Amino acid sequence: KLSKRLAAVAEFIPAGSRLADIGSDHAYLPCHVVRKGGVTFAVAGEVAEGPYQSALKQVRLEGLSDSIDVRKGDGLEVIQNGEVNCITIAGMGGALITSILEKGKDKLVQVKKLILQPNIGASSIRKWLLENDWELVSEKILKEDGKIYEILVAVNGVPEAPYSGNKDMQLLFGPYLLKERNQVFREKWELEKINWERILTQLESAEQNEGTLSKKEEILTKIKMAEEALA
Ligand code: SAM
Repeated sequence: KLSKRLAAVAEFIPAGSRLADIGSDHAYLPCHVVRKGGVTFAVAGEVAEGPYQSALKQVRLEGLSDSIDVRKGDGLEVIQNGEVNCITIAGMGGALITSILEKGKDKLVQVKKLILQPNIGASSIRKWLLENDWELVSEKILKEDGKIYEILVAVNGVPEAPYSGNKDMQLLFGPYLLKERNQVFREKWELEKINWERILTQLESAEQNEGTLSKKEEILTKIKMAEEALA
């Protein structure tokens, strides 16, 4: 059975998609959506040998080799331009997801939808999307086994709607998640705030120089934004 996290990612994949799941590990996600019939063709991309072998094994085990191509390679280099119209990248840090998108930009021209699930650092993805003409259309936050995950969904097109008012806050917390402010959201940012406060205390007892001062400034800004988001 698919994890709650991957099931939530799967729900955003439009029916009839041609999918690439990058960093697929066991290929659980493409296997699930192909089995259910929503996806007709999928590429499972993996850069590491172990996970690549796991993906191959799982796809064969489920008898899905005709519909799912397991390919070894770095990021989007495993797909040809125009081959897929939807890409999922899940279970990695936001910075890694952003670097995969940035390096593979030329492969995104004909892609309609990106479904990205960062474990941390979602804000770097929001910034990348904004700067690269991807419109953030949906966000979800969820908790599974004590861990909190975010899912960001973007479509190819110039962003206009979500960012108005305090853009820094929206990039950090997510425009849709910030509007909703549900229980999991509150829990995540309460914890982050406590962590920032701890860092601030450490910085205050450290030697004061330009570095610590600017770091303190940055952390203070974040704490204030969290206070506002949680108010
Ligand atoms: N996507 C699955 C999930 O969400 O459960 C697996 C997540 S696993 C923690 C991250 C996977 O991404 C690893 O198997 C790793 O080998 C792969 N990975 C990391 N960097 C990659 C890259 N540049 N290109 C392709 N795969 C990558």
